[in-house]
Formats: sequence, structure tokens, C-alpha cells
Amino acid sequence: SRRKIVAGNWKLNGSKDFLQNIVETLVSVNDVDVVIAPPFPYLEKASALVADLNGLSVSAQNVSSYSDGAFTGEVSVAMLKDIGADSVIVGHSERRELFGETDAIVAEKISQVLKFGLTPILCVGETLEQREQGSTIEVCSTQIKSVLDVVGAENFDNVVIAYEPVWAIGTGKSASSAEAQEVHASIRKLLSESLEGLGKKVSILYGGSVKAANAKELFEQEDIDGALVGGASLKVEEFNEIIKAAG
Ligand code: 13P
Repeated sequence: SRRKIVAGNWKLNGSKDFLQNIVETLVSVNDVDVVIAPPFPYLEKASALVADLNGLSVSAQNVSSYSDGAFTGEVSVAMLKDIGADSVIVGHSERRELFGETDAIVAEKISQVLKFGLTPILCVGETLEQREQGSTIEVCSTQIKSVLDVVGAENFDNVVIAYEPVWAIGTGKSASSAEAQEVHASIRKLLSESLEGLGKKVSILYGGSVKAANAKELFEQEDIDGALVGGASLKVEEFNEIIKAAG
């Protein structure tokens, strides 16, 4: 169900020491779920460190679409559940662009994550070219519909959506709060068209150059429930400012 979430996607960064330090330093704010998403090798330790802490949980950055078998290098949802991870980022634009993840693969992964009771964080978003062509809403809708078709709208309440315009990721150039709000509102509308009331139940995060300086204004928008933060989640003080802005 809809809640405020600030998630830090570390991407290919971090270390055991960094993990230890960040868990000790992160603030806890009422009604804000804070999620850290370190690389796979740190997930078990991260889960153990946050086990007794309120409002802090652990996410993987990716997962296999397969459940088990001869798939060298893959990690299954059951394994993530086994080591105490709570959620999984699926379909990040870097995975779509650099590792060939199609809408079909993304949908299969979300389906696996839901089957094991973890929370998928489904990333969607348009490229600059697509925005300039005026196809932002269409691109995001197609990405979401391909998941809805596979998992069913009735199973979608526990999916978290992260709207991450590709042109805003790691560029320092965030979408304006109005640009983000417009897309978030249309995503909510799409969800409610699939199933009455669904739009009110799903948390929709914004991602793409979220910083302490722009977080507050983004979070003030009616349909923005939080953020998926990349670079700024590696700067503990700044990440804390973003968490406070969500409260
Ligand atoms: P930045 O916050 O570094 O732009 O990254 C956003 C992102 O991709 C989070 O998943």
C-alpha cells in the first residue's frame, strides 16, 4: 500500500566499511521507509545490520528471472529472501540499456519477486529523445502495462514504481517537480484504469539526480511518494537530508 519511501541505489559502489558506517549514521524519520540497495555481496550483512532497526530495510539491485538451475552467475529471489532482503529493484534503465533487459524479462522478474513475497521496485522512464518526441507517457505506460499483463492488476498493490527519466540519471539535471508530477499522475491514472482504486495504493518514487537541494520540492508534489536516489545515497549526510525532506 501507498507509503513514503526513500531508497538508495548504490549501483556498483560501496564496501563493508561503508555499509557499517552508513547503517550507524542513517536517520530514522516517522512514516518514512528507508531502503538501502548495496551490491549482492553486501546484502546479507546489510540485512543483519538493519534487522533490529525501525524503518530501514534492504533491497537488491537486480535478480534472476529464473528460480533455479543451470544459470551460471544468477541470483534467485528465494536466495534474496533467504538472506533477509525485503525488496528488489527491477528494470533499472542501466540494466535495460547496458544488459539488454526487455520488458518481457522485466515482467518475468517482477513476477518472480511477487511470488516469493518480496517487494519489487519497478523502474520506468523515457530517454531524452523520447521526451523530445512527446512520447514520455506512452513509453512509461508501455513499460508498466507489460508488467500488468503478466502479473495481473490484482497482484500489483505491492509493486513500487520508480519513475526515472533516463536523461536525469547521473546527469545532475533532475526533472522539474512539475515534469515529474505530470508523469506520476498519469501513471496513477493508468493503474486505476487497469483496476479501480489501484492508483491510490501504489507508491510511486521519483529518481534522477535527487539531491538535498531538490528533494523537498519533489516530495511536495501530490503524486510523488519518495525517491530512488543514486549518487546522493553514497553521501551519508546528504542522504539523511533527503530522508528528512520526505518526513
Ligand atoms: P542519480 O541519483 O545518481 O541520478 O541516479 C538515479 C538512479 O538511477 C537511481 O536508481
